[in-house]
Amino acid sequence: MRIIENYSLLKHNTFHLDVKTRWFVEYESEADLQRLLGDEYFMSQTFLHIGQGSNLLFLGNFNGVIVHSGIRGIDIWKENDGHVWLKAGASEDWDAFVRFCVEKGWGGVENLSLIPGEVGASAFQNIGAYGVEASDCIEEVHTYHIPTGEKRIFTNAECKYSYRHSFFKEEANCGLYFITHVIYRLSKQPEYILGYGNVKSRLEGMEINLQTIREAIISIRREKLPDPAVEGNAGSFFMNPYICIAHYGALKKQYPAMPHYPVDDKVVKIPAAWLIEQCGLKGKTLGGAAVSTKQPLVIVNQNHATGTDIALLAEAVRRSVQENFGIELRPEVYSVA
Ligand SMILES: Cc1cc2nc3c(=O)[nH]c(=O)nc-3n(C[C@H](O)[C@H](O)[C@H](O)COP(=O)(O)OP(=O)(O)OC[C@H]3O[C@@H](n4cnc5c(N)ncnc54)[C@H](O)[C@@H]3O)c2cc1C
Repeated sequence: MRIIENYSLLKHNTFHLDVKTRWFVEYESEADLQRLLGDEYFMSQTFLHIGQGSNLLFLGNFNGVIVHSGIRGIDIWKENDGHVWLKAGASEDWDAFVRFCVEKGWGGVENLSLIPGEVGASAFQNIGAYGVEASDCIEEVHTYHIPTGEKRIFTNAECKYSYRHSFFKEEANCGLYFITHVIYRLSKQPEYILGYGNVKSRLEGMEINLQTIREAIISIRREKLPDPAVEGNAGSFFMNPYICIAHYGALKKQYPAMPHYPVDDKVVKIPAAWLIEQCGLKGKTLGGAAVSTKQPLVIVNQNHATGTDIALLAEAVRRSVQENFGIELRPEVYSVA
């Protein structure tokens, strides 16, 4: 187990904010984790479990314990003619896990290629892209319940998954469970999901298989999204809002070209990026932070931004969309005070 005092989180958040944590703890095994949970000092502290920090905004130094899993490994958990179930350690890099599945010819997660982060967070966040969510393939999530130190295995249904939502994200449960492993169910005869974004047109004239789908998605994402290695960011800052059909009807009269995706017969989803662009906010700056000119849903650390610069810019975006459209944007990025 690694325990470091006054540790910089620069390499642990994709906004590249040079904030410090009072303590940084990385456990390598379940035995390590059990020891940590039996430690009186640790249990008396404020703590936060992180992955790669690709969905976190640190507003300043963290006066507590930042915990990171070092549990690795991808093992076959069970297998039959149609499927294989993989048990992956929480700290496995998500995209490396997707690449592993694709190379083996096991389908299900290929549309989630190139999403930053770790396997543990994929189950916490229910990551999604191009018509697929992690929850479509998650069989079980293995956790430790922090207050009692007990191991608990969640079935897919118990995780209460929906759009970018899980049981673990709910206010009453947030921070109470550390995820050690996730069981993913992959298909040996995958059905390809190509109807989202311009995946189908990107594959025109090509043989369609897991590898070409993965490559198409990687190339689309590289074109559309700022690379956090070059310009610090945490992906979409806001979730796409759902509005009721009556509100949509009223807005459509004013904005006939407003894109929308029906969710059911009462609710439609509106792309937050379109709303932000309509407010004229593309490229808007505040301190060192900027609304990305490549993808307005992303806020970037353009020039030595502080966490506060980014938070204030996000608040200005939220307010502007609320004033212009009466739509409340909810952050996807989690702010850490
Ligand atoms: C360029 C870019 C593009 C992105 N595109 C997408 C996208 O297309 N779709 C999408 O859904 N997301 C996207 N994201 C957001 C991000 O990649 C995901 O939210 C990812 O799952 C975060 O993983 P992480 O390991 O960095 O987790 P972190 O950001 O470190 O943590 C995220 C949350 O998970 C919790 N957590 C992490 N690990 C554990 C664990 N082992 N046990 C308990 N809790 C844990 C943390 O406490 C925190 O609440 C994007 C981000 C970037 C920077």
